Amino acid sequence: MLSSLENRARTGNAPPVRIEVLNTGTELMLGHTLNTHGAWIARELFPLGLTIARQTTVPDGEAIRDALVETVERADAVIVTGGLGPTSDDLTRELTAEVLGLDLIEDEAAMRSIEAFFALRGRPMADSNRKQALSPAGADVLPNPNGTAPGVYVPPRLNGRANCAVFLLPGPPRELHPMFRVEVIPRLRALAGVETPPHSLVLKFTGIGESDFHQGIDERLAAVPGLEYGYCAHIGEVDLRLVGGPAAIETARAIALESFSAQLVSDDGSSLEETVVRLLAARGMKLATAESCTGGLISCRVTDVSGASEVFTHGFVTYANEAKKELLGVSASDLETHGAVSETVALAMAEGALRASGADIAVSVTGIAGPTGGTTEKPVGTAWIGLARKGAEPAAFKVFHPRNRHDFKLAVSQAALDAVRRVL
Ligand code: AMP
Ligand code: MG
Repeated sequence: MLSSLENRARTGNAPPVRIEVLNTGTELMLGHTLNTHGAWIARELFPLGLTIARQTTVPDGEAIRDALVETVERADAVIVTGGLGPTSDDLTRELTAEVLGLDLIEDEAAMRSIEAFFALRGRPMADSNRKQALSPAGADVLPNPNGTAPGVYVPPRLNGRANCAVFLLPGPPRELHPMFRVEVIPRLRALAGVETPPHSLVLKFTGIGESDFHQGIDERLAAVPGLEYGYCAHIGEVDLRLVGGPAAIETARAIALESFSAQLVSDDGSSLEETVVRLLAARGMKLATAESCTGGLISCRVTDVSGASEVFTHGFVTYANEAKKELLGVSASDLETHGAVSETVALAMAEGALRASGADIAVSVTGIAGPTGGTTEKPVGTAWIGLARKGAEPAAFKVFHPRNRHDFKLAVSQAALDAVRRVL
């Protein structure tokens, strides 16, 4: 009996494969651990043209049984994460074997590899680890070079309940990620008949919102034959995802750039800070920052990028007025007359940073993060961004991001980095 998946693999074309993810773990339900597996797996599947149809999260224990029963009857392939450990709440193997009507047997190779894991570390193996070598009869045991819990693959033909492939993967990301790439992706590709993955492209834009796309280019993208597309908005950034044949992607890309080329951050997945570092390096220029309200976030983002040492000289975090005066030479009278959050002070900070650092470009930010400290004239969320360049007039502009402190800092750092990108 062939499952719809195996049939699809044979005939080479068919409706989309229904993949579901089942995350198990009480820590996920308590908020102790952020459930990152769904998003991570989705990102891995995307370039293959595969998507997750449904993601379910359940606590450890019996709840896994009900969730499995429902999921295997709906899906072509289910990826179960967590619960493969040695403790009594790790029940994923047992419950999966029960639901699929398979016996659990000890896998000799798995047993040896668990023993080797402990031997290598000079640690005694607890008796409870033995159960990690159990696997449903006939299933593939997926090696785990990064931990003790091997994974399991139950092909649809073994499944006694439904035509559904079942993967069991360990919970720790450092174990799951490599196992997914080595063991799961090739099996899913074979099952789904993905011979050549479709082309995909992510264009990152900043300085525009999702609604600009909807008004500007949505209808035109919808008319491109063979194109799948979607938007994803982050703070200060919108990603446009394109999937399809090379011609469809090129057409869509041209449509997007016709309207928004000035706002394009990258078409290769690079972040704004990566783009800024690359542009600075290409022009042989150096950057310094003078930050007040972002508290060093801009320099943090720049120095997250490999190669930053070639292009970044100084990050001044001048939070207090004293620091602005001492380190950047901002005048007491400007601070007095205009206030720290002002065009004049933003300009003076950028010019001061340029002078003190010897860099080619300096960007400054000064603003009111809130929730206190706002006035009618300068409400919470107001920030001034200054830009000074060797041999050019300095410039400053105002942005307004009335958000919580964290998001405010992110949005302001985004606007500042984008200002640098634009002059480059
Ligand atoms: P396990 O012993 O296989 O249940 O895995 C438990 C470990 O994996 C714990 O450290 C969890 O915090 C981590 N973990 C389990 N599920 C997830 C998940 N969905 N996202 C991120 N980490 C997880
Ligand atoms: Mg667990």
